[in-house]
Amino acid sequence: MVEDSCVAMGTVIDIKALSRSGDDAAIVRKALSAAMEEIRRIEDIFSVYDSKSEIAHVNRLAAGVRLRLSDEAYDLIRSALEFSEKTSGSFDITVKPLVDVWAKSREENRLPSPERIKEALSKVGCRSVALDPSSRTIAFRKNGMGLDLGGMAKGYAVDRAVAVLKMRGVKNAIVNAGGNIYCMGMRSKGRRWKIGIRNPRNKDLTVMTMFLKDNAVSTSGDYVRYFMLDGRRYSHIIDPRTGYPIQSGAISASIVAPDAASADAFSTAACVLGEGSLGMLQANGLDAVLIFAEGNKLRAFFTKGFRGKYGVMDEDINAA
Ligand code: AMP
Ligand code: MG
Repeated sequence: MVEDSCVAMGTVIDIKALSRSGDDAAIVRKALSAAMEEIRRIEDIFSVYDSKSEIAHVNRLAAGVRLRLSDEAYDLIRSALEFSEKTSGSFDITVKPLVDVWAKSREENRLPSPERIKEALSKVGCRSVALDPSSRTIAFRKNGMGLDLGGMAKGYAVDRAVAVLKMRGVKNAIVNAGGNIYCMGMRSKGRRWKIGIRNPRNKDLTVMTMFLKDNAVSTSGDYVRYFMLDGRRYSHIIDPRTGYPIQSGAISASIVAPDAASADAFSTAACVLGEGSLGMLQANGLDAVLIFAEGNKLRAFFTKGFRGKYGVMDEDINAA
C-alpha cells in the first residue's frame, strides 16, 4: 500500500493505492503525486479565498457583464446549476452572499439582522445566472451576486484525482478529500474498501461501516464546520430558501453515487432538506443514510436501496 496526504481545499487530502511489486510502487508513488498536483490545480481555479482564481474573477462581475470561462469552469458551473434543479433548489452555488453574511456573523459573534439576510437573499438564485453555451460565457443578472462551489468542488477534485490515477495505470486506490471519498477497485484480493461513517456527536465512534468498490461516498453534516452562539449551533450549510443555516434536523448525510462530485452536491442538499430529501435522492437513483439526533440518541433513515447493500449499522443507533 502506497500512501500520500496533503492539506488542500481547506481539508486533508489522503490517497492510498495498491502496488503489485517493488517496481510498481515507484510508478504508483508518482501517480499519487500527480493526483495531488491535480487537486491543487482545481483548488487554484475554484478557491473563493484566492483573489486571482477564475471563480474570484467571476465573483467580481457587475450585472450584465459577460466573462469567457475556461471549459472546465464552464462545465462545472453548468453541472452545479443542474444539481440545483435535481435537488429542488436546495443545492445552490449562488448562496455566496449568504455565506459571506454568516461568515461575518461568526467573526463578530452575533446574529445578522433580518434585513441583512433579506438583502443577501435577494442576490441568491440560479435563475439570475446566465450561461451562454455557444460563447461559453457567464453573466449575472444582478449586482452583488457570487458563486461558491465549496459544496461540490472537493468531490469534483476527487473525481479528477481518480482520473489521473487511472490514466497512470493505477487500478486499486482510495481518494479522500475531507469526507468526499472515491473507492476504486479493491483494498486487497476479495476485499472492498472499508469506510467508517463517523458518529456526528462523537468523533471517536462510527455509526456504520461501509464496504465499497468503484463508488463514491460523501458525508456532509453540521459537525465539521459550525459556530455556536447563545448555545445554538449554526452550520456552514445555508438553506437557500430561508437564508439561515440549516434547520432540517439532519446532522449528517452520507450519499453513495457513481462519482464524487454528485455525492458531494447531494450530501449538502440532503442536509438542507432533511428527511424530505429521501424521495429526491431515490428519484435521482442514489442511496443514502441520514442521521438525526433525538435527545441523546441517534436515529438513522435510509433510502430503499441502502439497507444491507453497503454495510452494517453499528449498535446503539435506532433505524427508522
Ligand atoms: P459541504 O461541506 O460539501 O456540505 O459544503 C458546504 C459548503 O458549501 C459551505 O461551506 C458553503 O461554501 C457551500 N454551501 C453552503 N450552503 C450551500 C447550499 N445550500 N448549496 C450549495 N453550497 C452551499
Ligand atoms: Mg457537499
